[in-house]
Amino acid sequence: MAISTKVQNCIEQSSWIRKMFEQGAQLREKFGAENVFDFTIGNPSVEPPQEFHDELKKIANSPELGMHRYMSNAGYDDTRAAVADFLSQRCNLNVGAGQVIMTCGAGGALNVVLKTILNADEEVIILAPYFVEYKFYIDNHAGKSTVVETNPDNFQLDLDAIEQAINANTKAIIVNSPNNPTGVIYPAEDLSALNELLQRKQQQFNSTIYVISDEPYARLSYDNLDVPCIFNCIDNSVIVTSHSKDLALPGERIGYLAINPAMCDGQVFMDGAVFSNRVLGFVNAPALAQRLVTKLQHVSVDISEYEEKRDLFYQELTALGFEVVKPQGGFYLFPKSPLADDVDFVQRAQEYNILLVPGKGFGAPGYFRIAYCIDKKMIENSLPAWKKLAADVGLQAK
Ligand code: PLP
Repeated sequence: MAISTKVQNCIEQSSWIRKMFEQGAQLREKFGAENVFDFTIGNPSVEPPQEFHDELKKIANSPELGMHRYMSNAGYDDTRAAVADFLSQRCNLNVGAGQVIMTCGAGGALNVVLKTILNADEEVIILAPYFVEYKFYIDNHAGKSTVVETNPDNFQLDLDAIEQAINANTKAIIVNSPNNPTGVIYPAEDLSALNELLQRKQQQFNSTIYVISDEPYARLSYDNLDVPCIFNCIDNSVIVTSHSKDLALPGERIGYLAINPAMCDGQVFMDGAVFSNRVLGFVNAPALAQRLVTKLQHVSVDISEYEEKRDLFYQELTALGFEVVKPQGGFYLFPKSPLADDVDFVQRAQEYNILLVPGKGFGAPGYFRIAYCIDKKMIENSLPAWKKLAADVGLQAK
């Protein structure tokens, strides 16, 4: 085998993703794309806002000398300043441009942060259900993932379980709110309680434990709920995020990391992160995308469309008898699987041309994920199939 055993094993472990993709393609060929209800992919269904297109035209019509060249590994000064101003306003504190690094999306930012902080075999706590890529990213930098369950009733933080998992080797905990796949938002009180716990543990072990707040869905929250700013709750925190969801630009790979001005040894962290951004081969975030988002920091996609879809889907599924925690943000639902084995359930759903992702892939067997960032018409058209599926697996309509 020419490729590494490790990569080969990773591919095999996540082969269900490929299998589902292939089965989806077969169904589309057989029944026509409009008759297959694909809820597997978290690709935004909305287009970037008009302001994005205006800015794109403006930049294209007034090219500047050197605008496609390398710049500082941390990004353009004015872009970093614009992000810092936005965060200062959002968090009501003083974030400086020197505390921001532009990155290739949140995924790039996560890798930069993990490379910066991890020594071999140090542990990173991830909370199940978790974003599929975390384990791979941690492994990229020779770290070890420690999985801690969230509260099974509401997917909120289980501080006792987190406390049990922390030891002298713990270097970080990744929190993701609004969460993929559950849609829950962690309240400020819980994050402050986590801060107290971490302060205590850092003292006990004479260590530094970072909270990495992965928040690409921070501006996709519903019912007028605020997503608390992590900087107001946790001292040793770093935000990793992107404009993949709030400006619907996932293909443009533009995001950033920002450290809490209160972080201890913040400048050392930033020097390390700039170096990591360089040697991971990102070099810098895409120049054009940085210019584009500089003026768009206060602009977001219209989230009312997502909220409408959440309401529709939540209402219909619960009426059919599915058990699901109502998402407060993001664009996913994470219901309980009516069959004991979530992979069996996802396979059964395929018989009705409904494509889903089993919870197993998120470290949460017994659940399944629906991505509702698709056309509302598609959701409406899928409802008769959901009804048949619910009856088939023995759910009682309410
Ligand atoms: N973190 C979470 C929880 C996500 O859901 C995603 C993408 O879906 C990412 C990170 C990566 O996003 P980006 O496109 O900014 O790399």
